[in-house]
Amino acid sequence: MNKDYIKPYEWSIEEEGFDAENVEASESLFSIGNGAMGQRANFEETYTGKSFQGSYIGGIYYPDKTRVGWWKNGYPEYFAKVLNAPNWIGINLQINKTELDLNTCEVSNFRRELNMKEGWLSRSFNAILETGEEIQVETKRFISLEYNEIGAIEYAVKAINFSGEISFSPYIDAGIVNEDSNYDEYFWEILKIVNDKNNGCILSKTLKTAFHVATAMEVSFTLNDNKVAVTQQTEVEEKSLHYTYKLPVSKGDIATIYKYGSCVSSLNYQNKDLIEAAFNNVKKASNLGFSQLLESQKNSWSNIWHTADIIIEGDVRAQQGIRFNIFQLNQTYLGTDARLNIGPKGFTGEKYGGSTYWDTEAYCIPFYMATKDASVAKNLLMYRYNQLDKAIENAQKLGFKNGAALYPMVTMNGEECHNEWEITFEEIHRNGAMIYGIYNYVNYTQDFEYVAKFGLEVIIAVARFWHQRANFSEAKGQYVVLGVTGPNEYENNVNNNFYTNYLAKWCIQYAAECLDRVNQEYPKDFKRVMDKTKLADEEIKEWLKVAENMYFPFSLEHNVYLQQDGFLDKELIPVVELPNSERPINQKWSWDRILRSCYIKQADVLQCMFFFENKFNKEDLERHFDFYEPLTVHESSLSPCVHSILAASIDRMPKAYEQYVRTSRLDLDDYNHEVHEGCHITSMAGTWMSIVQGFGGMRVWEDGKLTFNPQIPKEWKSYSFTINFRGNIIKVYKSQTECKFFNESENEVKMLVNGQEILIPTNQLVTV
Ligand code: BGC
Repeated sequence: MNKDYIKPYEWSIEEEGFDAENVEASESLFSIGNGAMGQRANFEETYTGKSFQGSYIGGIYYPDKTRVGWWKNGYPEYFAKVLNAPNWIGINLQINKTELDLNTCEVSNFRRELNMKEGWLSRSFNAILETGEEIQVETKRFISLEYNEIGAIEYAVKAINFSGEISFSPYIDAGIVNEDSNYDEYFWEILKIVNDKNNGCILSKTLKTAFHVATAMEVSFTLNDNKVAVTQQTEVEEKSLHYTYKLPVSKGDIATIYKYGSCVSSLNYQNKDLIEAAFNNVKKASNLGFSQLLESQKNSWSNIWHTADIIIEGDVRAQQGIRFNIFQLNQTYLGTDARLNIGPKGFTGEKYGGSTYWDTEAYCIPFYMATKDASVAKNLLMYRYNQLDKAIENAQKLGFKNGAALYPMVTMNGEECHNEWEITFEEIHRNGAMIYGIYNYVNYTQDFEYVAKFGLEVIIAVARFWHQRANFSEAKGQYVVLGVTGPNEYENNVNNNFYTNYLAKWCIQYAAECLDRVNQEYPKDFKRVMDKTKLADEEIKEWLKVAENMYFPFSLEHNVYLQQDGFLDKELIPVVELPNSERPINQKWSWDRILRSCYIKQADVLQCMFFFENKFNKEDLERHFDFYEPLTVHESSLSPCVHSILAASIDRMPKAYEQYVRTSRLDLDDYNHEVHEGCHITSMAGTWMSIVQGFGGMRVWEDGKLTFNPQIPKEWKSYSFTINFRGNIIKVYKSQTECKFFNESENEVKMLVNGQEILIPTNQLVTV
């Protein structure tokens, strides 16, 4: 059963009524972040029920010693972990000396809201303690976008039926551990704890990676909205710092604590300056005050929504779904720092510990490219360019030569940090996504200079890899790629995965095209890169032999490309015939049964048709969709969006809509029964694509032309979205009867709509 306790509102995620069973799921769903740091929606006060604590700082990781039973040569020594960082949100509460704990008291009127329009999280409830006192609590907190090292909490407690004492204990806890630590180790060393009047700081350092982090807090109080000074008692423990403040209250009084937190790290400061920086931040926050910080938060989000919002009329669940996806993507990555990237779980959980997967290039780049300035997508490409040397080293370790690069499947700093042989060594298709990301960026932005200055080196190194990874099969008289895992991870060690072979061929051909173009348009760069890579014409000819004579498994009977050699030996039983009780199969079946089955975790052949739709005709797409989709269990979050887009392309709107709902509400409705571990952030970019590329039919291929083919699901009255196309802001509106474009920019913009060329003059609305 999927969960469906989230109330459908257009701009907010809301939970009503307290259910301990939902606490961990809600901790993921109500997460907050600002691209630089983020945290799960853990309660501020003590909670002894089941909970998964998490606060994370972008770029701060730990190389946790690998735990594998059967070591394989070539494995990396470690699996990087997104680190659970010192927690600044904690505020314990005692009412007449009895601890508030929602796990043990009687809770009513519980309500939680994540306000996506303004970027804050709130909670309110009444609690009756075992001792009979009743309180009403209202809290609000956010992590500032404008001041991105600062967070703020307002926590108000009303004494409903008693007079006596409310005691607040705000604290910083640096004794936190990772749930997924391989050897239950503690990853931090505490260097210094500083306590002062109403503020304090803990300086800690990660073991092995030696990142230094200072976490500070500052507090102030009001009683019935009037500022009050309260005496502070201080308790310094080995790994935490606690202050206690006791406020005498009369029945009906409201006592409020304001807590400001800051996390600063050695990524941005010298170690010696960290404590001061953290203190300065909390002082600044406290001087500005909660309301002013909240105002700035609303403005920052309003700016984001201006170019990122998608409005859906007539379907509130779909509207909530898409806004949740856009909101979480912006909480995870804002594109201002080329050292950061988009982790599959963002700041909402630990799973997929490494931060960067092929998800970034295959799914996220289109979203950031179209909803923000082109510099953001460029930063994502630079992240890989800056890690090219590590990718070359990685390939060398695995026996490749001559500057060939294999980008890691999972990485924090360019090194591979994943070790399951079938993924680390075999899921090499990710190397193709690196190049697809560049191709997509160049088509959309026309910034070919990026290729000349940076991308070409990556393209050459990847082409070298494919050339060496393929081998000539005497039996087939063609080149083959053996022993791989495609995007469908429910098959391992297969030969000639169609998607992988296609990418290998395409990457080589694209490399040859780029070399020619750089040679013509940027001769100086061409020379520089040729010298640096020692690439000669002879080598390029050798690559092209592989590309031109690549083998693709094909079934004459079904007239489709086969996912891999031997795919037709499987029993092909459609997913609809699987009993519900056996799904998701990754939680119900043995691994061996999964591998032997025909079931497809996520788009594989269809991933290729999605990437290169312009190279196939509609009948090809239909045949492949009809062959593979019925066998697909969509147990990767990355799956439904691709199917939704392809279904829209072949005019299967009911299917496109069904898959859209699944992708957009994947976490809100917990389709894959795992939201308690965190949200699926990278696939959220796929949800955005389902509307813009799927229903909107937006494409930009090699010719650089912006094209649309808008359709609308019958369930909706209308939808509209905005794109930033080469600096021009364009709004697209589609209803059941109309299609309109508004050009908000200073240039006229040319586009193709349903195959017809149109010109949208500046500041004009054009109905098509
Ligand atoms: C998918 C991969 C993806 C990873 C992280 C896995 O379940 O199969 O394709 O890269 O999740 O999102």
